[in-house]
Amino acid sequence: MTVKIARHIIHHKIRRTPKFALVLQLEPLHTCNLTCTGCGRIREYSTSLKDMMSLEECLDSARDCDAPMVSICGGEPLIYPKIEELVAGLLDQRRIVYICTNGMFMRRKLRDYLAATYGPKQEPTLARLQSEGLITPKEAEVIRQGKSDGRPVIRPTKWLYWNVHIDGLEYTHDLIVEREGVFKECVEAVKMAKLLGFQVATNTTVYKETEVREIEDMFKFFSWLGVDGHTISPGYDYDAAKKDMVKRLGRDPGEFFLTRAMTREKFSKIEEWGRWFTIFGTPVYQEFLAGKRELTCTAWAIPTRNIRGWKAPCYLMTDGHYPTYRAMLEQVKWEQYGVVDGVARDSRCENCMVHCGYDPSGALGTNYRPGDNWKNFKYNFSSRPPRFPDGHAIAAFNGFSVGKGHLAEAKAVLRENAGAPTTGCGGDSAQRDELLHRLRESGKAEAKSR
Ligand code: SF4
Ligand code: SF4
Repeated sequence: MTVKIARHIIHHKIRRTPKFALVLQLEPLHTCNLTCTGCGRIREYSTSLKDMMSLEECLDSARDCDAPMVSICGGEPLIYPKIEELVAGLLDQRRIVYICTNGMFMRRKLRDYLAATYGPKQEPTLARLQSEGLITPKEAEVIRQGKSDGRPVIRPTKWLYWNVHIDGLEYTHDLIVEREGVFKECVEAVKMAKLLGFQVATNTTVYKETEVREIEDMFKFFSWLGVDGHTISPGYDYDAAKKDMVKRLGRDPGEFFLTRAMTREKFSKIEEWGRWFTIFGTPVYQEFLAGKRELTCTAWAIPTRNIRGWKAPCYLMTDGHYPTYRAMLEQVKWEQYGVVDGVARDSRCENCMVHCGYDPSGALGTNYRPGDNWKNFKYNFSSRPPRFPDGHAIAAFNGFSVGKGHLAEAKAVLRENAGAPTTGCGGDSAQRDELLHRLRESGKAEAKSR
């Protein structure tokens, strides 16, 4: 996969293409089965299931920008009625496919795969899945009956990753996705996918209230489960919310928002994490997150295509939608966005260090320093860190599974927060941080009174 992407970059560098796509963020629909705290996608687009891109539009979008990698997100992409055909079509186009999912329907899709490929030889696998509680005897029976609807299924291949959204261990994750049991389901889906030979990654957004120790524990736990890699990015803070906080509430935004300085503090160990775990991306981007260098935003390299068109300037901010990737490249005034040498060209970009704006910058050589290419090459072509051996010792199930019902309290906080601003999928950091902050404070007060 790394060779494929490197070849794509070299191809365009030789031709001196000024701007080109590396990863397409494809949002065939914005419908979701969850309502995560602060998720802007389900609110900004607030669509119904009938509002979705057709399969042909999705496949044409990939051809249009010709990114070697397509990340299918949403909404929840597994709700997309033609997700199997979409994955098959993108693989036919010889692209790398990431299915960015909240994990809730993953096991259903894995059972479809088992049913479509069922034969007596799979009995030991079915027995193992049952013994680990990943399928029920009834589900095993359905698998044995096979699948006869003629539709494709999602099969393991080296060109495909399940990319499961995980924002913490059980307590935090269930809190953020506002439903108990989601973390547990994700873990079971990851286990089952690994057992069936799929590649799996996790996808985490870090917020102000996210504790560094918890991120490390999460990596340890999922590495022990055999996950193949991790994507991690700081949350995005929306400038309008910050201004509102100062003007209307007279509060210091630093109390609630993940500023650049805070991001650097949170990510100060990212290079160390990159040695222990497989963190996807470039070491140059990691240096940027750790505050060791500046990068210039290259949001055009990870374009977003959704039902309204090509969303500009980036995955997070919406200043317009364009009919084609080319039209977006030509009409957007790119020089008005991003942060250059610490100065925000657009105030909304001020605290942004997200991967969709800056990870490609690390690969594309903006702000190039001698040795960067070798660093990127070495990082991506060296052998990957081994599985973390003691992940079983991590108290990953620290919420719902141990009977700590905490959602009622969270929902009360959310009700108070109703109307808070939202941003992109993955959530609005202000809203999440406030929620986690209040819960921690109420937890401390409760502990004191005992
Ligand atoms: S963050 Fe993702 S999983 Fe959560 S509600 Fe939004 S689209 Fe759904
Ligand atoms: S700096 Fe961030 S918010 Fe601004 S255009 Fe780039 S990716 Fe978007």
